[in-house]
Amino acid sequence: MFEGIVGQDRAKALLSRAVHADQVSHAYLITGPDGIGKGSFARSFAKAVLCTAVPENRPCGFCPSCRHMASGTHPDFLITAPPEGGTIKIDQIRRLIADMGSRPLEGGGRVCLIESAQKMTAESQNALLKSLEEPEPGNVFLLTADNPRKLLPTIRSRCQQLPLEPLTDDEMLQVFAAHHLDLTPEQQENLLAAAPGLPGLALSQLSEDADNGIKTALIPVICDILKHNLMPIFDFAEKAGKDKRQSLESADALIQLFVNAAAEAAGAPLQAAPSPVAGLAGVQALTEMAECAAELRKRLETNANPRLQWEAALLRIAEIQENSDEN
Ligand SMILES: [Zn+2]
Repeated sequence: MFEGIVGQDRAKALLSRAVHADQVSHAYLITGPDGIGKGSFARSFAKAVLCTAVPENRPCGFCPSCRHMASGTHPDFLITAPPEGGTIKIDQIRRLIADMGSRPLEGGGRVCLIESAQKMTAESQNALLKSLEEPEPGNVFLLTADNPRKLLPTIRSRCQQLPLEPLTDDEMLQVFAAHHLDLTPEQQENLLAAAPGLPGLALSQLSEDADNGIKTALIPVICDILKHNLMPIFDFAEKAGKDKRQSLESADALIQLFVNAAAEAAGAPLQAAPSPVAGLAGVQALTEMAECAAELRKRLETNANPRLQWEAALLRIAEIQENSDEN
């Protein structure tokens, strides 16, 4: 459980016990400053909650539910977040509650993640209260918030609170290593000082510092995905979704990356330096990944939530890689 999540031993132990004893509460409030990793933590927990294997084996990684979580297409994992700079309005909460009232499509439980829950209006929070007081069996609410005090006491008291802890310097270095960051000791020092204990903040700072922002982070993330490490996807998608121009440029870079790699893997003469991903997947898979990237490029042109589009596309790439391994 919590594969790829560094630190947070207390919260992990508590939730692992609850999942394995099949005693998950109906509502959790995950708190901590921006960049501490609340979103990744919540998704990792949701995967375990929705897994349909026997409790002690959750998450199994193999059941239909685990596969749907891995491909970002689980019909019973609902996510709500405020629009950029806005609040979560009552209509959004009413729609969510209506969706939560229907039968789960996969026959297991259902998890609803409300991100930046402190952005719910007082009206929205009051609308949510009844669902928190009298939950439908099998429904689990996960709320994330930068500060629990920004929520009404009535909401707080109905959730089990899970404060995430800033990472130690050692844990931060583990995160940097997991992201294949090639940092000088001085750069490490500066990052640890600028974003103490906050891996998401450190990583976003780093990509802001880089000349071409998220494009720099793209290749390590794709290499990770092709090696079956999916955890960097969510942080990356969050960054990629923030700026439309960068997002489109990165999608272009992604298409090019796979097109070049597929040509190289098919034996075409090298145009420039060898592709960093050509050796990690076959021609057929790389071609499918290029198509997936082109599809993402099209979707980003519309007004669909760019972060969710990036998440879905990167998870689809992971799925293509997994399927090609099986063949
Ligand atoms: Zn499973």
